[in-house]
Amino acid sequence: MSILSAPKNLTRNVLIGMALGVLVAAFFHYYQNSTMLFDFVEKYVFNLGGQIFKNLLMLVVVPLVFFSLVAGISSLSNMVKLGSIASKTIGLYLFTTGIAVSTALIFGWIFNLSGYEGQVESFTPAGGEASLYNTVLRIFPNNMFGAFVENNMLGIVFISILFGIALNLTDELTGGLSKAFERFNIVFLKIVLLIMSFAPVGVFCLMGSYVMAKGLNIFGDLVQYVVLLIFVLLFHLTVTYSLLLKLLANLNPLIFFRKMRNVALFAFSTSSSAATIPVTLKTVSDDLGVKKDVSSFVVPVGATINMDGTAIMQGLATMFIASTVGVDLSLVQYAQIVLLAIITSIGTAAVPSAGTVTLALILGSVGLPLDAIGLILAVDRILDMIRTAVNVCGDAAVSCIVAKSENELDEQIYNG
Ligand code: ASP
Repeated sequence: MSILSAPKNLTRNVLIGMALGVLVAAFFHYYQNSTMLFDFVEKYVFNLGGQIFKNLLMLVVVPLVFFSLVAGISSLSNMVKLGSIASKTIGLYLFTTGIAVSTALIFGWIFNLSGYEGQVESFTPAGGEASLYNTVLRIFPNNMFGAFVENNMLGIVFISILFGIALNLTDELTGGLSKAFERFNIVFLKIVLLIMSFAPVGVFCLMGSYVMAKGLNIFGDLVQYVVLLIFVLLFHLTVTYSLLLKLLANLNPLIFFRKMRNVALFAFSTSSSAATIPVTLKTVSDDLGVKKDVSSFVVPVGATINMDGTAIMQGLATMFIASTVGVDLSLVQYAQIVLLAIITSIGTAAVPSAGTVTLALILGSVGLPLDAIGLILAVDRILDMIRTAVNVCGDAAVSCIVAKSENELDEQIYNG
């Protein structure tokens, strides 16, 4: 096993952690729910443990994206190629997200997704001032350090690309500084993997705090929304990506899915595409045969801007909320949702629950009440895990397609 492999038996341990979290928390929820012990365990075991795990993941997202992009771009042997890789990558990312949200709306319509009948919890969305104007402006921050401090991921991606290009072009003068970035990149990849050795405990706490508060009836009245959402996520994952891999790159999708299993589970455990970058990169390069020139750009950019699973959630959540408050969406509004979901998924940070916050932009734009987001919060934790797995599979599929078109895919490795 290499120094940069995912922790041993991660899949099995995470599943055990989840199951134990559910069992222990269900016991407390049903048999000990008014004791002091309950309060203590809820606050100091589940909530605190879960929050620490999420904080640790979010802590590494900014340096991880920065160093992986700078290291990748500064070591490209052929800079002219970057333009072609970048345009194909971004074009495909927008295209797949467009398909994702359209599929969600079509299935929502076919199955007549209907709203919620209970009380709507109040919810005040953060970052409600997001708009196309602000999203574009965030790509070009006026303060380099400000972008890092504010976790402005779009700005950080832009700065990293600029920095990587400059470093690449000045390599002779900067005395191999780009090597230093590659080494820093390795250190941060390792930090994520170290944090992930605690994932089984983290997932135990996250699942536990969820069940502790809600018991086992976690989907409650939201069953139709949850089932349909999971169905569309799986549909996009299996049908859309298979078709794209087959039609655009003539690759066998079954091999792709078999090799992506661990990456999907890693994303599922972290609910963060960004924290999954080390594992995605490794699988895409070592197992799927994408050469480093392509993967080092396509994967970190994808983790930041490509979120098909998130767009699917946002499409269905908007329909669900519209139906709850009795609004009939017009065709123009549906088109608006598709466009907005594409833009929003670019602007959504690749960290847990980010997509639920940016959903406010879509709701606001089609005139729906923002506090109705409170409705879907109850089920969002689990759905976030599943949609993040879809998000990273999208990044990997696009990596293979772009690599194939650039002659940068080793098909022997892919098929091996
Ligand atoms: N957790 C998702 C991701 O990192 C973003 C979201 O939909 O909340 O990919």
